[in-house]
Amino acid sequence: MAKKNSTQKTNLLAQTTLNKDDQIVIAGAGGFIAGALTRYFHDQGFTRIRAIDKKPLPEWYQRVPGVECLCMDLKEEDNCKRACEGAVEVYNLAADMGGMGFIERFRVECLRSILINTHMIESAWKAGAQRYFYASSACAYNTKLQEDPNCPALKESDAYPAMAERGYGWEKLMSEMFCQEYTAERGLKTAIARFHNVYGPWGTWDGGREKAPAAICRKVIEARGSGKHEITIWGDGKQTRSFMFIDDCIFGIDQIMHCDELIATPINLGSHEMVSINELVSLAEKIAGITLQRHYDHNAPKGVAGRNSDNTFIQKVLGWQPSTSLEKGLAATYKWIEQQYQQRKAGHRTVS
Ligand code: NAD
Repeated sequence: MAKKNSTQKTNLLAQTTLNKDDQIVIAGAGGFIAGALTRYFHDQGFTRIRAIDKKPLPEWYQRVPGVECLCMDLKEEDNCKRACEGAVEVYNLAADMGGMGFIERFRVECLRSILINTHMIESAWKAGAQRYFYASSACAYNTKLQEDPNCPALKESDAYPAMAERGYGWEKLMSEMFCQEYTAERGLKTAIARFHNVYGPWGTWDGGREKAPAAICRKVIEARGSGKHEITIWGDGKQTRSFMFIDDCIFGIDQIMHCDELIATPINLGSHEMVSINELVSLAEKIAGITLQRHYDHNAPKGVAGRNSDNTFIQKVLGWQPSTSLEKGLAATYKWIEQQYQQRKAGHRTVS
């Protein structure tokens, strides 16, 4: 495969042997990332896309015209069989998840997502699917390596010895292993991407499951709207993270899914632009053109002290890595959340 630099974009989907009328199955499509992935396939000209989510249709974040939409609970095996009928490629992005506020409080729900992957991969294999994608997470990494805000970026081998995030992270690690063993024993080509904090328009921005970039944009917008120029930050604001813009995530899913060198091989899909939460707030303030008085809630969920994506492997294999700057991506996200905020104020329906 030809190597590309990080700014060149050649999508591998266009180069596969897939036919445009092959059945593509996308689980979790009522949510943020799988909703954007559904749109991506549609825009590439695919005509048989099956999108599945347990949420009722009116609650789906995006509805893409011409796509078969099924509302089903994929924790049930029979529903997974139905979902995977005739599938050529299956993308599993369905999970009960959210930001730290959700995954620290609802570990049982997070763990129970293992049922989704367990039944989906079996059904995909039985249906004779060619490829299966699993959305893993940086939460699969050993938490002991993330106790300092300046800890080194996480490389793929840092998941073992295992000490993943309780609940959510262990489910991801175990589901990764399902993918690897389905490849080893049964020959299903699996792809496993460890996402690092994805953000962007059409994501959850309120209600308790939102992640830091959306939560901070919303808080800044609310402060601006109310004239009360204050913000509460979870933790001491010194915890560090990297944030990947949604367009990079979708393009990365395509690259990873269609790269034979990456079969059954977990790989980071994240930005390596690390910032502290305080810096993230400063960026949102800059976009809004205001400065807020900061309060710190030391009892709020804050996750690990530091986390970043080591992109050496993805750059080596794909010759590409997520490259949208946080400044650019956050500006687009802020703008979209502000529109949502205004729509909600006007009594219209919004995402989350
Ligand atoms: P999301 O919550 O917006 O989307 C997940 C969707 O899965 C939701 O719409 C939900 O209703 C659906 N779902 C949950 N349980 C289901 C079930 N039993 N049957 C059918 N549908 C079900 O989340 P997202 O941010 O789009 O995340 C997508 C995937 O990427 C998840 O697997 C998540 O763990 C993973 N991930 C996301 C991030 C991130 O920063 N957003 C980071 C790491 C990993």
